[in-house]
Amino acid sequence: MKPLLDTFGRVADDMRISVTDRCNFRCTYCMPEEGLRWLPRAELLTFEEIARLAGIFMSLGVKTIRLTGGEPLVRRDVEQLVAMLGAQGVPDLSMTTNGFHLAAKAQALADAGLRRINVSVDSLLRHRFAEMTRRDALGKVIEGLRAAEEAGLAPIKLNCVVIRGTNDDEVCDFARFARDTGYQVRFIEYMPLDADETWEMKRVMPSDDVLAAIGAVYPLEPVDHGPEPATVYRFADGAPGGVGVIPSVTQPFCSNCNRIRVTSDGQFRTCLFALEETDLRSLLRGGATNEDIAAEIRGAVDRKWAGHSIGAPDFVRPSRSMSMIGG
Ligand code: SAM
Ligand code: SF4
Repeated sequence: MKPLLDTFGRVADDMRISVTDRCNFRCTYCMPEEGLRWLPRAELLTFEEIARLAGIFMSLGVKTIRLTGGEPLVRRDVEQLVAMLGAQGVPDLSMTTNGFHLAAKAQALADAGLRRINVSVDSLLRHRFAEMTRRDALGKVIEGLRAAEEAGLAPIKLNCVVIRGTNDDEVCDFARFARDTGYQVRFIEYMPLDADETWEMKRVMPSDDVLAAIGAVYPLEPVDHGPEPATVYRFADGAPGGVGVIPSVTQPFCSNCNRIRVTSDGQFRTCLFALEETDLRSLLRGGATNEDIAAEIRGAVDRKWAGHSIGAPDFVRPSRSMSMIGG
């Protein structure tokens, strides 16, 4: 079949599938302290439904599937889903997790066919980690990172949301951590997708400032890589590890965006900030054929917009926040 080409010439071949809206953390930039109203279980796609959709998306040229949430490791037996997707031959299968359950799950995930993992860590200081995630769990997450390494999940990438005035003083400590461990730390700009709706532009730490702060201590060299939102750098002195930045707010990569998403309740989104969703779950449960579903997906990709306008007066927040979409 032809690839998923939109009217701006972008090919969608990289997808995020959310496996749950639930989470055991309450990161301040994502969820309210009391959590959100979780979706009833019957509304979540089953593993069989997710696997069927994955097959359809792969037939449309999707090469990369990342499982996310909410927190994917709180979905019971998620390693079974990994095995089902692995058996379907997903070329690049990975997961983004907060790492809390990784110590217990890393080996099972690797055995099921997971190749790589991204773990979110916003501070290397115990008290600040606890403040930002509202869970005193840094030790547990570090234990999870070691387990992931032992299980051979590589490369290990860390996701760090940098918030000005909160953890921006730690970017060089993260770079040192990358050099010590060989991990790649990816600094993400804070986006207006927090459920509390307290996001402000002045709290966004621009990626250029992150790179300047690190480069002054550890000179960096850009790494050539294919189309991906992160710009990646190695250490000029040849130290292991590396850093990357995802400047979604200050330098949006919309014109090269190859991403699409399916929420845990089966809604197809062509942009993190999309205001339109396509209800694939109703099609799956209503007897649609794979061809019918593929046609709906093509139609939605055809309608994909040029990009978001964060910070502009006409910017409209999507009704779902980050954990409900699947970041
Ligand atoms: N629970 C998992 C985790 O935290 O890694 C997976 C889901 S989480 C929504 C995916 C990524 O989105 C995490 O790296 C998280 O830090 C990031 N994220 C959440 N809210 C964000 C926001 N408002 N701006 C930027 N990144 C955000
Ligand atoms: Fe949970 Fe991830 Fe959101 Fe933190 S960022 S509250 S870990 S879904």
